Amino acid sequence: MKIKKHRILIADGCKETLRAIKSSKEAKNYLLETASSGKECLTKIQKFQPELIIVDFVLPGIHGIEILKDVREAPLLKKTGVIITSFHSMVQNYHVAIKMGANYYIEKPCSLKKLFTHINSFFKGTLHPEPSPENKEHKEEKDFTYVPIKHSHACYLKFWGTRGSNPVSGPEYIRFGGNTCCLEVRHGDDLVIIDAGTGIRTLGGILKETSDKPYHILFSHTHWDHLLGFPFFRPIYHPNSEIHLWAPVGFDRTTKELFSDMLAYAYFPVALQDIKSKIVFEDLRDSEKVSFGKIDIYTHYAFHPGSTLSFKIHIAGKVIGYVTDNEFLMGYHKSPKNIAKDKDLLTAYKPFIDFFKGCDIMIHEAQYTPEEYKNREGWGHSSVSNASFLMTIQTRTFCKKVSSTSM
Ligand SMILES: [Zn+2]
Ligand SMILES: [Zn+2]
Repeated sequence: MKIKKHRILIADGCKETLRAIKSSKEAKNYLLETASSGKECLTKIQKFQPELIIVDFVLPGIHGIEILKDVREAPLLKKTGVIITSFHSMVQNYHVAIKMGANYYIEKPCSLKKLFTHINSFFKGTLHPEPSPENKEHKEEKDFTYVPIKHSHACYLKFWGTRGSNPVSGPEYIRFGGNTCCLEVRHGDDLVIIDAGTGIRTLGGILKETSDKPYHILFSHTHWDHLLGFPFFRPIYHPNSEIHLWAPVGFDRTTKELFSDMLAYAYFPVALQDIKSKIVFEDLRDSEKVSFGKIDIYTHYAFHPGSTLSFKIHIAGKVIGYVTDNEFLMGYHKSPKNIAKDKDLLTAYKPFIDFFKGCDIMIHEAQYTPEEYKNREGWGHSSVSNASFLMTIQTRTFCKKVSSTSM
């Protein structure tokens, strides 16, 4: 008795693949037709009336899913099976093929033996799509491909706010931002935050709410612009976080009393005692060294109303001076060229200059133009001209010059 051969149409853009399938010994059990483009595939579906179509996902001209859709929409082809083959074994492709009614999805490359096993299963009625694409084992192939080395900026300073007095907004402030003082000092897992101006709000948004180590916030002083962001620093609302607040010893009130006043209900809905995190108040004094893992910070008085400190940060072998509020060379309105000659003027600043001697980077405020400074003397901030003198001189050489001056 003559066995009726099943009709199969194989559509694939690769002619070698089609030839290999057609000339295989397994193929002799079937009536095989091939197509190498979408158009040819559609024509042969009409002419050849295959019982099974094996079509490649990226068949030239018309993709395999469009062919599948056409077949599923044709009432005469209701019983026709469709197997999608693809080198693109992305999970999305697999799901779309099965959703559109494919009987199976074959990931290429696929051996002829395996292909005909699937074909046999289809005609036996035992071929069912896998619940999910096969999990390929990914061999570790070292030295096989180029793997870029990620450079993590493990050690950096980030300015989250640089404004003095009050936050500002508007197009003219876009370059440096409008937030008040907040500096992130980072060395790997070690983190120190200097000042809690409004910039700390954004920083708090990216920090983990809880950390293995306590968060440390150092305050240069307790003027408003350095505290404003504190109630919006997210980690303070997490019961498992611990935050240490380091502030200069004040004149008439403790830091805790100041924070308690600042967070009175009349000013803000969350009082100090309502804050969920553990808050630890720590005193900071002049000429102190405090260490936070790999970050060491030294303190020195600044020339500013109230108890105010400036900082010298030792991090990754570099030394950074950080002075947010300081009236350097108070009352000096002349050219910076002549400053070095004015020994009386420099006497008061000698310890300050010595402290920052040899810094790799000096960050210093400069709130006023020389013109503005004429009317702001004694307000605790520097003119650009006076501050730039400190910034541009060879501090080491300069200190030698002033060392012979009398007190
Ligand atoms: Zn300030
Ligand atoms: Zn201030």
